[in-house]
Amino acid sequence: MNIAIVGTGYVGLVTGTCFAETGNHVICVDINEEKVRQMQAGQVPIYEPELDHLFERNAQAGRLKFTTNLAEAIKDAEIIFLALPTPPGGDGAADLSYVMGVADDLSKIITSYKVIVDKSTVPVGTAEKVHAILAKNLDESLFDVVSNPEFLREGVAVEDFMKPDRVVIGTNSERARDLMKKLYMPFVRQGNPIYFMDERSAEMTKYAANSYLATRISFMNEIANLCERVGANVDAVRKGMGSDNRIGKRFLFPGIGYGGSCFPKDVKALAKTAEEYDFDFKILKSVMQVNQRQKNRLVEKLENYYGDELKGKTIALWGLSFKPNTDDIREAPSLLIIEQLLELGAKVQAFDPEAMSHIQQIFGDKITLCENKYEALEGADALAILTEWNEFRTPDFEKIASLLNSKVIFDGRNLYSLEQMREQPFYYESIGRATVH
Ligand code: NAD
Repeated sequence: MNIAIVGTGYVGLVTGTCFAETGNHVICVDINEEKVRQMQAGQVPIYEPELDHLFERNAQAGRLKFTTNLAEAIKDAEIIFLALPTPPGGDGAADLSYVMGVADDLSKIITSYKVIVDKSTVPVGTAEKVHAILAKNLDESLFDVVSNPEFLREGVAVEDFMKPDRVVIGTNSERARDLMKKLYMPFVRQGNPIYFMDERSAEMTKYAANSYLATRISFMNEIANLCERVGANVDAVRKGMGSDNRIGKRFLFPGIGYGGSCFPKDVKALAKTAEEYDFDFKILKSVMQVNQRQKNRLVEKLENYYGDELKGKTIALWGLSFKPNTDDIREAPSLLIIEQLLELGAKVQAFDPEAMSHIQQIFGDKITLCENKYEALEGADALAILTEWNEFRTPDFEKIASLLNSKVIFDGRNLYSLEQMREQPFYYESIGRATVH
């Protein structure tokens, strides 16, 4: 099939590459000229495991092409995916200007039947709005609009896309349904389902899923905070809870709050939708408040430990991306933590395997970025761990102790067991567990 992908970010580029991998001819279009030039030259502009191999293979085979020209990209396409940003607007509602702008552009250039697919996460009712914009300039026989929300996780995006737990397709058009089914069949060979539903339910499914996952995180963070007060160990509690089949083991890890480009914005947008429909979505409001509070927890711990002496101290940070295996720092707890530390007069030395160039663009020379995790410790007064990259899981503790001015670790991701840390010479404070002295 001939496919066009509009927007080549984390979702668009992975989607386009994976569709090319199953033999389709894909043209990706983006307004960012520099990015398109890079991709035309064979460079992958984002870090995502496995993406570079697939990208290279399919680009070389001529199945994956890039352009800045929308008309050229869609000319022969049967399906056009909109993988455009939907950032939060000032009031928390998703900003639909990118999606609507491209829909308007499409309405002026489409000349043969196309399926227009909302891949972006968009509020309930957006498919109808996109339809209305297209219908202003186009005969309704020339297009269908489908909602096909994306559930991939950054860091394992290719794997998630190639083997999705399920595919959700919202459409009432049989013609669009058949095309979408044909396109996705190679991805569900193992028997995972494609759920067909109406557009509104598909749009809601994406927000419900992300908001539920964010709720789980906030709930566990609250359990962890209470564990600290009552003297329980959240690791044990988590295992005890998660082994119940009704609950499940995944997504129960406490930490320093959720971040990223999706959870914060999608929870906010769903809360806004609830407000627009005059519904008081109480849980969602708490989820947001709890997350905001949790992002402050690590600096609170540092303040409690150092008191006024935090000023002038040098804190080494391990991990800056909002989660491991990505270079994405959008709404990462690290951003707030760095800001707070600088405001309190502390100095920051940091290392992250992939995200440092993005952090550099924001903080410039206000912080020191280091070549590796040990260099970040040189002359620092304490280590604070913000992201659970695998390379931080089994460090050389002797080396850490020798490089730090004092043997102090604040672990925002509970990377080390308390038993293990009791044998080490550190003051070790984590989330929802006793402090080791
Ligand atoms: P992104 O910001 O990484 O990428 C968006 C791309 O669109 C950019 O390359 C940008 O230059 C391009 N763009 C903007 N305006 C354009 C235009 N008029 N024409 C062509 N290209 C244009 O965004 P993303 O993370 O890929 O997210 C895209 C959508 O998918 C969002 O709605 C997001 O909520 C949703 N989503 C994201 C994830 C994720 O993990 N990142 C997962 C599921 C769903």
